[in-house]
Order: sequence, then C-alpha cells, then structure tokens
Amino acid sequence: MQHVVFNAASHYELQEQLKTFLQTRPDLYQQYALAQCYTTEQSADVLEKFIFQLHHELPKLTLVGGNAMGIVCDTQFLHQSCVLSLMFFEHSQVDVQYYSNLDKSEKQLTDQLAQHLLATQRSTNKPLKGVLLLSTAFNVRISVVLQTLTTAISNVPVFGGIVGNYEEHQASYLFFNDELKQAGIIAVGLYGQDLRVETKPYLGWQPFGEVMTVTSAHGNRVATINHQPAFQIYHYFTGIERENFFDNAVEFPFVLHKGEQYIARVPQSVDGDELLFLAEMEVGDEIQFSYGDVSTILSHRVYARHQLAQFQPEAILVYSCCSRLHLLQEDASSDSRLQIEDRAVAGFFTLGEIDTASSPTKVLNASVVIVALSEQPIDENLRRAALPIDTLQPSRHLKRLKRLMRFVSRTTEKLYQANKELQRLAQIDALTGLNNRRVIEERIPFYIELCQQQQCTLSLVLFDIDHFKQINDKYGHVIGDEVLKRLAEIVANQLDADVLLARYGGEEFVLLLPNRDVTAATKIAERLRKTIAEESATEQLPSITCSFGVAHYAKTMMHTSQDLIDAADKALYKAKEQGRNKVVVA
Ligand code: GH3
Ligand code: MG
Ligand code: MG
Repeated sequence: MQHVVFNAASHYELQEQLKTFLQTRPDLYQQYALAQCYTTEQSADVLEKFIFQLHHELPKLTLVGGNAMGIVCDTQFLHQSCVLSLMFFEHSQVDVQYYSNLDKSEKQLTDQLAQHLLATQRSTNKPLKGVLLLSTAFNVRISVVLQTLTTAISNVPVFGGIVGNYEEHQASYLFFNDELKQAGIIAVGLYGQDLRVETKPYLGWQPFGEVMTVTSAHGNRVATINHQPAFQIYHYFTGIERENFFDNAVEFPFVLHKGEQYIARVPQSVDGDELLFLAEMEVGDEIQFSYGDVSTILSHRVYARHQLAQFQPEAILVYSCCSRLHLLQEDASSDSRLQIEDRAVAGFFTLGEIDTASSPTKVLNASVVIVALSEQPIDENLRRAALPIDTLQPSRHLKRLKRLMRFVSRTTEKLYQANKELQRLAQIDALTGLNNRRVIEERIPFYIELCQQQQCTLSLVLFDIDHFKQINDKYGHVIGDEVLKRLAEIVANQLDADVLLARYGGEEFVLLLPNRDVTAATKIAERLRKTIAEESATEQLPSITCSFGVAHYAKTMMHTSQDLIDAADKALYKAKEQGRNKVVVA
C-alpha cells in the first residue's frame, strides 16, 4: 500500500499538487485506491465545485470526505486548510456506499449496509478487515447505526468520525464522489487477505469534581443532572454563559464512567435549561467534569507512536475530536504528529469519533482515534528494534494549565475526603461509636419498601437500661458513660453482620433485624438480655439489666417506620411495667 497525502491552504493549490503528482506517478493510479478529502471550507457552493473538480481529476477513485473543524496531515494541523489522502492498495479492495437516512430509519439502512458488506466479502472472496464510517452531524442517530453494525459484523473494526463544523452555521456535508450529501452515512469497506487494520483511541481528559448523575435525558439532550436543570449546573461550576457556549464548553466536557473506561461527552449548545451534547447520554449515566490533561495527552502521543511502530503501518489515519483543537491550540499539531519514518498521516477534527473496537455502540468525544493500516506482514526484526521515545515539552501556557488543574484536583480530593469524614461523623454516636438514631431512621424505610415489594420479614427491637438513673446517682456520670460503652460493646459482639445496632438516645438502643420474623427477633433479644445481665459487671463497673420491646413489621397494620418504632416502644414500656429485665413482644 502507498499512502500519499496532500495538504494545502487552498483548494486550488491542492488540485495543482494533485495534478503534478498524477503526471509523475501514473503507475500508482492504476491500483485500487481510496481518496479521502477533508476541508475547513464551509460554503456548500464552494464545496460542490471543489469536489466536482476533484472527482474529475480522480475519476477512477472513490472519493469520500467532508467538511471539518480542522484537518490533520503529516506534520501539522491547520484551521484553514484541506487535506487529501490517497491510499493505493496492492491487493486489497475498497467499496464505498452512501445511505441517506431521510427515507429510511438508521436500523433499516444499517441492516442494508451490513448485508452489502458481507455480500461484497463473498463476491470478492476477500475478508472484510475494517469499515471507515463517516456521518453527518445531528440528523443521524449514530448510536443505532453502530449498534446495528457491530451486531452484524462484530469482529471488524469500524472507525471514522462525524463531519461538520459548529462554528459556521452548523454546516455538515459529506463528500460522495462528486456529490455533496447533507444527511446520512458513508461506509467504506476495506477487504483484503493480507490487509491489517488496527484502531486505538486515546482520551487524556481527566475527571475532576463530584460524581453527578444524569436524571433526565433523551438522545443527545440532557434536561437534568442530579435532579437540577442541566444548564444551571453546568453554568454554576464553569461560569460558561449561553453566548458563545460551544466555543467555551468544548474544553470542559463531562466524562462518563463506563466500567474501567471513561468516555467524554462534549456539550454543544443550550436550549432553555437543557444541554445538547455531541453524542447521546442516558438517564443513570454517572458523569464528572473533566479537563484536558495536557501532559497525559502528550505522553499518549509518545505511546501511540510506540504502538504504531510495533504495528508497522503503511498508512495512518487520524480522527481527532474538535475539542482537542481548542484545548491544545498550537500543540494540537504535535498531538497528531505521528508519522513513523515516512508513513503519511491524514485525518480531520471531528464532532464525534467512531471506534467500535473500544466502544461498540457509542460515539466518542474528546479522544483521538488512530488507525493503522498495512498490507505487509510484520517484520519481527524491526519490531524488536529499540524505539527512540522522544519527549516533547509542553508550552509554558500548557504547563500553567496543568498545574492549575492539579490544584483543582487536589482541592476536590481533599474536600471529598473531608465530606466523607463529615458524613461518617454525622452517622456515629460519639460516646459508644455505634450508629446514631439518624442512621436507623434513614434505613427503616428502605427495608419496609423491600418488605412491601418482596416476600421478606423485618423486626425491630428497642431496649433500655433498667434504673440507669440510680447508676448515675450512685457511681457518677463518668462511670455511667463507661457502662453505656460496655453495653454497646457486649451487644455489638453478639450480632450478625446484617443486623443494624444504634444508640437511639440516652440509655436506649435499637436493633433493626432484616429477614428475621418475630420468633427469631425475640430469641436474639432474649439472648442479649441474658448476656447483659451476666456479663456487664467488671471490676470497675456495676452489673446492669435491660428491658426489651420486640416489634415485627406487618404489612396490614403498619405503614410507616414510626408505626414500627411505636409498637416496639409500647412493648418496651410493658417490659418495664412487668418488672424489668424482660423481653416483651408487641
Ligand atoms: P427505667 O428502668 O425506667 O428505664 O429507669 P431509668 O432510670 O433508666 O430511666 P430514665 O429514662 O428516667 O433515666 C435515664 C437516665 O439516663 C437519665 C439520664 O441521666 C441518663 N443518661 C442519659 N444519657 C446519658 C449519658 O450519655 N451518660 C450518662 N452517664 N447518663 C445518661
Ligand atoms: Mg432506663
Ligand atoms: Mg430511658
């Protein structure tokens, strides 16, 4: 395979370069080839003329591409520029399809695409090794496309991106030979026995701040986060206003937690108090703010080069999120400067990257997807050769940003720990170290709901020290406190792990016993009563006894947690009446 990349500031210049090339290398032009063109031009009229001429120059090649926020080529990226990648294959074949989603659902058109890919595999007798997928922005439900496609061809990597530009009238155009398409997908099947295709995404955005939950969402639209209006939350933390929203928000995406993996989600615009994202979000998604950690991003680049060198590519394609362009500014060129020896690199800055090898059904944001292709087998000798790993110093501006973000992360971490400690303290009784009343009161409704939904039981026991006032009077408050602590220890040691023990107040305690009926709960109370009477006395502390009231949750009679507590309290009162050191069932 030969990969030839042209890059120019103007379409005219690009075409001139192409003409010269075709005159000097007519031999290459006889081979199967794929032409990809990406340009920052946004005017439909200009684009139409341009691709018409380009296709005229390359009538035998299938031309795909689109408009973009920026382009990636060998040594640089340019905001105002265009790139043309020509991949000439030795044995492999390409097959390009365009599907409009105006007259078909995404599911229908992708089913059709999958069938076509498999049929072409049979007819060419060459295995399908990869699919380049390009889509217009917003009008295609790309998650449905990816879901359908990965189900049909699960072992083949699908990669590419969403074309378009948000800054200029939100225009999004696909190139399909000499036609401009405003809605749909282009799929390029890559077939070949010897063809190797590998894709890898690199993110580099680091989460910070509290973990929040998407509480209302539909497709790309998020209405509430943590039950509050999404824009209000976003504005509160970032100060980003509605005006020029995307331009500012692009550097502060959310990251979704997907198991071990983080997927970024860039907010694109605001509608009322709703946030519109570059890709879909779901209710229940756990999200955090994130920032582009420049040093991670730059070290990814070194790592990516290392991995590419192991793969020994003949061509390298890059589909990078437009947010990287905004974040890295002058360093964006080094983010995409990946060429190994003389292997050409081409691609564009997308509104959503596709890499089904890493995320089978979701479009990525804020990452860079690097695709390596080759028709040659790996040369093991070259693979073993040591690779010089170059280091690249970020600019002063980026160093400063990194330090600032480190400060935010460390501060957030400290606050998080402090908050966790406060939460712990708020649940603990300082004297005995047991749970306090609040914990029990919060947990009872949870277990009651379980009982209402499922066939399970719940019991509650209240117990209170007998004649405790006399202990205080006789031995003093300090010894009284020690008695309380000793009692807590004795009881805690007797309980199974799922029983919740709390100090309910003063010298009164409570047990919440899930999955215990009244007989089991009474038995436990009786055992505790006996142990306390027998073991509470020490050399320093007097012997005590306790009275117990046992209540069992009954669906028909009780509705609230207070009903359950009241029933146990009444039984406890009876135990006191009946002479103390007793267990009474409600
Ligand atoms: P009864 O058998 O009827 O429960 O008699 P009692 O004396 O235990 O009952 P009462 O509820 O009238 O008295 C409880 C006493 O517990 C009153 C209070 O001084 C004491 N007390 C409550 N909390 C603490 C505490 O944290 N430390 C100490 N030392 N005493 C406490
Ligand atoms: Mg008492
Ligand atoms: Mg009492």
